[in-house]
Amino acid sequence: MCFFNCYDLNHSTPYINIHSHHLGADGDITITNTHQFFERIIDSNIHSIGLHPWYLNTNTLNEDLSSLERYAHLKNVIAIGECGLDKLCQTDWELQKKAFIQQIQIAEKLKKPVIIHCVKAFNELIETKKELKVKTPMIVHGYNNNKHIAEQLLQHGFYFSFGKSLLKSDSNASALIVTLSKERIFLETDDADISIKTIFDAAASRLQMNEDELKAIIYNNFKTVFQYERP
Ligand SMILES: [Zn+2]
Repeated sequence: MCFFNCYDLNHSTPYINIHSHHLGADGDITITNTHQFFERIIDSNIHSIGLHPWYLNTNTLNEDLSSLERYAHLKNVIAIGECGLDKLCQTDWELQKKAFIQQIQIAEKLKKPVIIHCVKAFNELIETKKELKVKTPMIVHGYNNNKHIAEQLLQHGFYFSFGKSLLKSDSNASALIVTLSKERIFLETDDADISIKTIFDAAASRLQMNEDELKAIIYNNFKTVFQYERP
């Protein structure tokens, strides 16, 4: 199996897509996200697995967490998530917190980063990271919130992943990517049916940066945060 190491040997700097819901999405290295039927991840792709706040079920939570933990040990699972907190969804808030905390604890134990879904719960997210003294990297995915929230997240060591919001020149994401420290950024397609190259194009143009330079930055971040090791 050659999850992602081959690119160092055979290719130029890869396009990294850290979050897609579509198996087979483009990107030289793509982390495919799965929120159920974890047995499906036994393949040659790389994955993130997590219990999404939208789909939590109080009756099966313990069972779902044990299944998550069992599969999270696999080498091709390189992150936990997406998981997190969502104040706009119907899921019971206490259930969301409980599930999120337990997933962070699994991630800490396995030393794998966490890909976070957060909607209108950034204070609670920061508090949770502080209370649990989380050491493993936490990446807020699909970030398109304001600068004030981004500054707080930055202060607390979070990473940011940007997606299709970069395609709109007046979005929060487009403004923010310019000011953020470059070692804190990632790119993704999420559930959108677009190419990761389109996201890289948009990001490079916002940053007024050559695309190869951007690819190198993101690849470096990927190696650091996801514990990528050269073969
Ligand atoms: Zn997603």
